[in-house]
Amino acid sequence: MTKLMIGTDLAAELVAKAADRARVLQDETGVQPCLATVLVGDDPASATYVRMKQNRSRKAGIASRSIVLPAETTTGELVAELRKLSNDPAVHGILLQHPVPAQIDERAAFEAIDPAKDVDGVTMHAFAAMAFGEPGFRSCTPGGILRLLEAYDVPIEGAHAVVIGRSPILGKPAGMLLLASNATVTYTHSRTRNLPEIVRTADIVVAAVGMPNFVRGDWLKPGAVVVDAGYNDGNVGDVHFDEAAAVASSITPVPGGVGPMTIALLLEQTVAAAEAQSETAVHSLATLP
Ligand code: NAP
Repeated sequence: MTKLMIGTDLAAELVAKAADRARVLQDETGVQPCLATVLVGDDPASATYVRMKQNRSRKAGIASRSIVLPAETTTGELVAELRKLSNDPAVHGILLQHPVPAQIDERAAFEAIDPAKDVDGVTMHAFAAMAFGEPGFRSCTPGGILRLLEAYDVPIEGAHAVVIGRSPILGKPAGMLLLASNATVTYTHSRTRNLPEIVRTADIVVAAVGMPNFVRGDWLKPGAVVVDAGYNDGNVGDVHFDEAAAVASSITPVPGGVGPMTIALLLEQTVAAAEAQSETAVHSLATLP
């Protein structure tokens, strides 16, 4: 029978640990970790995601600062806002909600985030750290996927992992992290030929496409481990759950699989950023004449 890889409980554990660390930091240094969220435009789904992240932050003892910019914001205006937050010592983590309106150069905006505050793992600096297998902030969804696979003792080393999707926030970094864990990784995307045949060779499938029920049961090798990172209208993933569950050895449900892990990683990394920055502040104070 297929095993469900549930993210909810593991995420709650990670958030509780992050909350403990936030409390200790505040008791010892007076610093409360602070996450700034930046939302451009009025897309209702993005607004809901941002609100959810702020609520969870507050529950974990992390202060949140909310910046909402109009839909017609230019790249220059957004970059200026992100630089201001990057230079603000009271802000430890910055999250720019993706996607931004089409007139904005999203890469330029991401690169305006100080890597020390890039708790969502969106800068080239964070990507390079993931690609080289070096420590650093992870893109939250891929980071959450890896933690989930580890928690469920999924053997990654030597496994063939097929990642469906190559977006800079999900597919690409997910493949990089799997590679750093010694999987043999195949990336697939909208131009890939014979996708079902390739997926059938996978020990681990990561679906990050954005199309409901896209991956079918007959695409899977019996016993494959299936990670469904998709989240589509009506709480539907990118994998046809019932068909896949009949073939897979383990599968993440939607909702309750990858989603909660994403927020848990964001909070964990925000607290880690605050810890690192307050340490730097203490050290720089210590060097004052
Ligand atoms: P995205 O930026 O739209 O990327 C989608 C990827 O899927 C692209 O690389 C695209 O290929 C590929 N693709 C599209 N059609 C395909 C096809 N027919 N065959 C194979 N590949 C195809 O989406 P995203 O931001 O990565 O998000 C993907 C999914 O994850 C969405 O359902 C989203 O809601 C969900 N998500 C969940 C979380 C969470 O916390 N759980 C977080 C972020 C995203 P090309 O590159 O060739 O266009």
